Amino acid sequence: MKYDCIIIGGGLAGLTCGLKCLDDGLSCAIISAGMSALHFSSGSIDLLGYDPPGQVVPAPFETLSRFIEARPGHPYAKCGPETIEASLDFFRRELLAEGLEICSNGRDNHFHVTALGTLRPTYLSQASVFNERIREAFFRQPRIAVLTVKGFRDFHPGLAAANLRRNALFKDCEIVTGQIELPWFEQTPQNPHEFRSIDLGRMFDSGRGLGLVAARVKEAARGAVFVGLPAVIGFEDYNRVMKRLMDLTELIIYEVPTLPPSILGLRMDNALKSRFAARGGVFIAGDRVIGGEITGGRLDHVHTRNYGDSRLRAGHFVLAGGSFFSGGLVSEFDRMSEPVFGLEMDYQPGRGNWYSPAFLDRRGHPFLEYGVKTDQALRPLDRHGRPVENLLCVGAVLAGYNPVKEGSGGGTAIATGFQAALRVAAD
Ligand SMILES: Cc1cc2nc3c(=O)[nH]c(=O)nc-3n(C[C@H](O)[C@H](O)[C@H](O)COP(=O)(O)OP(=O)(O)OC[C@H]3O[C@@H](n4cnc5c(N)ncnc54)[C@H](O)[C@@H]3O)c2cc1C
Repeated sequence: MKYDCIIIGGGLAGLTCGLKCLDDGLSCAIISAGMSALHFSSGSIDLLGYDPPGQVVPAPFETLSRFIEARPGHPYAKCGPETIEASLDFFRRELLAEGLEICSNGRDNHFHVTALGTLRPTYLSQASVFNERIREAFFRQPRIAVLTVKGFRDFHPGLAAANLRRNALFKDCEIVTGQIELPWFEQTPQNPHEFRSIDLGRMFDSGRGLGLVAARVKEAARGAVFVGLPAVIGFEDYNRVMKRLMDLTELIIYEVPTLPPSILGLRMDNALKSRFAARGGVFIAGDRVIGGEITGGRLDHVHTRNYGDSRLRAGHFVLAGGSFFSGGLVSEFDRMSEPVFGLEMDYQPGRGNWYSPAFLDRRGHPFLEYGVKTDQALRPLDRHGRPVENLLCVGAVLAGYNPVKEGSGGGTAIATGFQAALRVAAD
């Protein structure tokens, strides 16, 4: 088996890279061990939400050039503002081709409501979370409603509303909460494992009883015309279900991310994988790359847990294994490592330096900035400090950025994945 490009890891970065490779006419395979951060994410793409002192960045593209200049080692500096913008446009087009509409607030950030009722700046959101109509309505309504389905444990309107009320932006707004009772789930609250976002998503997909759902939503909204529901409104058929629900209720409905599993993230994951397959990519799911041979500064082949002794060869390889969360990086008691190739990492020794004492520290934990060291071309350094010519690193496996502190996780994954594909195609 020989491909133009083999990508290790099928999260946001690996899939974006794969799609761009295919778009450029290259043959491409992705080997991916398991779930990615998308399954746990808000489904919105953060580009640059906060500046170094922690203030919200209203217009990321106005700030990016200065940001990059001040941080030449940042992954964004290895892409440049034009490529970053092109990558986001490409990403949106690819998802739209699969029916998933992604909206921006022009070239500015917008806020999305988190499951806890805080507002977070982000750059791209699914149309059910942010669109022109929601933007117009959001801060102008005298009353908004936050509702859930009775028995669903992964979203709590009372908590979300309490935090929204503390926000000065809603000082003139009444926020009502409520829950709708659905007859099909009367038994399931006994067993929380059988009543998750996926179950609700499937119920909405089936179209069963949408009239009843609409009537109960309208009743629970108590006169509010702007209604937030947990993001469970359809797992696959979300466009049709959402439209039908708004038509039936005559309300403006927006989705609020829930605790995992995230349906918003799963929609994105499904759409990216489906597009990758439609473009002719090979996705090898459930297998893990466990090593490879680097000789003369080039990676010759990789081998995986399932393929045993078979060697998977390619002209280029891209490492998109994610961070500690996905096993792309590993931490032991006193050291950190990149487990597949033993690439050189950028991190501060001494376990005490890895985290901040406050769990929810707004600045994020220092370990979030640790990762694989690369040159300006995204090439990693081998055990002897020499770049590996035909291996590129993308996404959360990279060192030099802090997705929480900067609000830059999704943007970095997409931009570096796209940039790596451009380099592979140019070679
Ligand atoms: C819980 C969580 C929530 C987040 N939410 C958001 C959000 O809402 N918005 C945002 O902008 N950013 C968010 N981020 C930041 C996030 O890092 C990026 O958005 C992005 O999804 C990272 O993508 P990635 O492809 O680099 O890595 P990942 O999504 O982690 O994907 C890596 C993939 O590689 C696979 N893999 C690892 N090692 C191997 C191997 N050896 N062989 C084969 N496969 C392997 C893993 O199984 C996984 O599927 C979140 C991060 C986390 C951890």
